[in-house]
Amino acid sequence: MTDNTIRDTVIIGSGPAGYTAAIYAARANMNPEMFTGMQPGGQLTTTTDVENFPGYPDGIMGPDMMVQFQQQAERFGTKVHMDYVTEVKLAKNPGEIHTLKTGSGREIQTRTVIISTGATAKYLGLEDEDKYLGSGVSACATCDGFFYKNRPVVVVGGGDTAAEEATYLANICSKVYLLIRKNEMRASKVMQDRVMNNPKIEVMFNHELIGMSGQMVVEKAHIINNQTNEKSELEVDGVFIAIGHKPNTEIFHGQLDMDETGYLITKGKTSKTNLPGVFAAGDVQDSVYRQAVTAAGTGCMAALDAERYLGENFH
Ligand code: NDP
Repeated sequence: MTDNTIRDTVIIGSGPAGYTAAIYAARANMNPEMFTGMQPGGQLTTTTDVENFPGYPDGIMGPDMMVQFQQQAERFGTKVHMDYVTEVKLAKNPGEIHTLKTGSGREIQTRTVIISTGATAKYLGLEDEDKYLGSGVSACATCDGFFYKNRPVVVVGGGDTAAEEATYLANICSKVYLLIRKNEMRASKVMQDRVMNNPKIEVMFNHELIGMSGQMVVEKAHIINNQTNEKSELEVDGVFIAIGHKPNTEIFHGQLDMDETGYLITKGKTSKTNLPGVFAAGDVQDSVYRQAVTAAGTGCMAALDAERYLGENFH
């Protein structure tokens, strides 16, 4: 179904970056249209209390926060489509039109595109992860660490994320067990040193998580030593899976510049990608900070960059 309207701005993705871009774009008369993706509201809809977003002194539930983001964007005229983009044909020269195809079969033309498709935390694939998600299992220490104050927790993973999460949690929790499946860590030397020198972190090489148990919430982590096959249990309240994130960039492969792990590359302190009129905001271009508030900040930048681009190339 081809639609001949040429939009000023289409936003792909509906997390804090996408909605902030929408609020700014709508208020700048850019008539933004948003395609929410398969998980409307993004990663925050899978968390419980959000207590670190400024302006909410009593905290707010992640899903409620995303409803408010949407209401604010719609108040200024953003059109929100519960649909997902399946294919993009991005123009290569300034002033040309980009074309997107959606899951519902629409073909959309637009002068600018703001990509805020986010990233997805990787999980191990254990049944117990689903069972205890939000009840002891998390993939975000900065979001949920506080709920395990003075309690013991497990972190799974041996990369920089795991090292960072373990170090962060060691400041809050009584004890952190770091499970690493190999006999070495992949994290950078400086992060490894930080973990090894922290008396609250017990590094367990060659150990894997095989399950969890507990009445309503996690009470025990079940682990295995993959060298001896010996199984054991750790009494913990929280299990943090920190085996990496996957940026949601499959549909942009071959068109936009990405780093070796698939994150979109933006130019300097802007939201500009390698193609004119295509901007990126939020976790899809940020493997380091990954916070709702930083995503919102870059969403604002993308709308301002898009507005400037429209002024320079179309009006
Ligand atoms: P990585 O891919 O670097 O590390 C993933 C870790 O999880 C590895 O130790 C891996 O083990 C382990 N793992 C993967 N799958 C499983 C599994 N099924 N069971 C058990 N363990 C598993 O991801 P990160 O998120 O740590 O880092 C991604 C990128 O972001 C890196 O380039 C990193 O440097 C960067 N980063 C930088 C930060 C900073 O600079 N402050 C902070 C966070 C990330 P194995 O080694 O055996 O494969």
